[in-house]
Amino acid sequence: MEDLQSLTRPDPNTATDPDFDAIIIGAGISGLYQLLRLRDHLGMNVQVFEMGSGVGGTWYWNRYPGARFDSESYSYGFSFSQELLDEWDWTEHFSPQPETERYLNYVTDKFDLRRNIRFSAKVKAAHYQDATRSWKVTLESGENFTARLLITAVGPLSAPTFPKVEGRESFQGEAYHTGLWPKHEVTFEGKRVAVIGTGATGVQAITEIAKTAKHLTVFQRRPNWCKPLRNKPISKEEMEEIRQQYPEIFRKCQESATCFLHTPDRRNTFDVPKEEREAFWEHQYNEPGFSMWVGGFRDMMTNRDANDEVSEFVAKKIRERVKDPRVADLLIPTDHGFGTRRVPQESGYYEVFNQDNVELVSILDDPITRITPTGLEQADRSFEFDMIVYATGFDAITGAFDRIDIRGAGGERLKEKWRRALETFLGMMVEDFPNMFMLCGPHTALGNIPRSIEYAVDWVTDAIRFMNENGYTYAEPTRAAVEDWTGFVIEGNKGLLSSEVDSWMTGINRNVEGKQTRIVARYSGSAPVFREKANAVAKGGYRELTVD
Ligand code: NAP
Repeated sequence: MEDLQSLTRPDPNTATDPDFDAIIIGAGISGLYQLLRLRDHLGMNVQVFEMGSGVGGTWYWNRYPGARFDSESYSYGFSFSQELLDEWDWTEHFSPQPETERYLNYVTDKFDLRRNIRFSAKVKAAHYQDATRSWKVTLESGENFTARLLITAVGPLSAPTFPKVEGRESFQGEAYHTGLWPKHEVTFEGKRVAVIGTGATGVQAITEIAKTAKHLTVFQRRPNWCKPLRNKPISKEEMEEIRQQYPEIFRKCQESATCFLHTPDRRNTFDVPKEEREAFWEHQYNEPGFSMWVGGFRDMMTNRDANDEVSEFVAKKIRERVKDPRVADLLIPTDHGFGTRRVPQESGYYEVFNQDNVELVSILDDPITRITPTGLEQADRSFEFDMIVYATGFDAITGAFDRIDIRGAGGERLKEKWRRALETFLGMMVEDFPNMFMLCGPHTALGNIPRSIEYAVDWVTDAIRFMNENGYTYAEPTRAAVEDWTGFVIEGNKGLLSSEVDSWMTGINRNVEGKQTRIVARYSGSAPVFREKANAVAKGGYRELTVD
């Protein structure tokens, strides 16, 4: 316990009750489930502010063509309600965005969550007030609300970023960011379309847009290693079988390091004869989902030679699938190995580049210099387009926090604190930010994200129950707890090949000031270990928190 003398206690004569027990920012998967837990299980008065006009978070904003799960649908949905599992039928092994958005609306209505959510309500600031031990939350509209607790459910990939290229606003045609895709129908027929970006999003969008665009030009800076998704419809009968298997499915996710249905092979690459490992990868390449990424040989992410081998296997596949060897070469990454950045899953992506209406333009050594009213330019070439699609990603992990003016006890801004040093406790709490809980924050377990979200929400709910039952109005992690956790996360990153690569996972976004240096932004240990550590905190009576 820290020195409680230094804490400001609310003056009972002047303190007024806050407007709400808790304010949650965001009505995506984590915000919805947190609302349900606090309202229905702890009987609290909760308000959610959501900047979109509907629920769903990621699955509300990312309605670009081709958007779909990369996790098996039945491993992704909520597991907390047997009734919900009984009622909801997935129609594809990897659900497309419209179905997922419908699902999250179904959940919202089934549990009557909508009445506690205010839509089109963008949170501009959240300031902790020592005198009242509450959070003052300010909306873009200028309205203010107070709550004892603040819960951020803002998502790790929710702050879209555009390239910093001169002239972007001058373009006269249609222009869309995949993460801000409009609700109205967008068509590509008869249009000359540019897509900038070839991450997991670009790969999905490009494959779909190429089907109907008159001409598609793909601007690629660095290629990624992609693997076939192998999606299929789910018949009614198959869905019934899946339903019977739900306990087993969730048990597997619970036990796996990344919460996916796939677990690493226990063998090291070179313990397996060459022919046998080729056959293993061939099998994995033909399997649906992330099998080849998170289900590879156990040393794939730590042993450079092992990683080179699997990378070469995938490179061979790309060469087989892309007819023009020059184009195939451009599509094969040379700056990082397979799996060291997020592996996009594709459904015919490489074959797109065999189509007459598609051109791949590398901008690695010859960047886009200017966007013009009619298209864009490289140093020696200019292009004309009817539409530009920005699949240029997000200011990930801390970006959504940075965009809100969040200030803790003493008034320091979270953005500034994290710029000095990114430190958290379990990725769920921050020192000097009392009564604030984060879902999907930095340094927390993610992986197959709804599985991690359900755990995190339950942990936060238990911590709040502990506060309520003991009459505590103040909770923040101790310095020692923050140092321990942050040290553990940093240590766990050592030796991973992914730590040596620029990506959103290592905190890099060249379109954002101050995000040019790699940091340890993610917890890359196993989810079971994460849960073990977080469970121990609860079991031990929250000794890692200063409470009052
Ligand atoms: P991303 O992986 O960060 O990719 C952004 C792309 O835009 C990269 O190819 C990047 O090139 C390029 N780019 C960025 N700025 C550029 C610039 N100024 N000029 C030219 N190119 C530029 O973002 P994302 O594809 O949106 O995916 C982000 C994450 O969202 C994924 O890794 C995944 O975790 C998640 N996601 C999930 C699903 C799913 O589950 N189904 C689908 C899509 C996305 P560089 O590589 O050279 O930086």
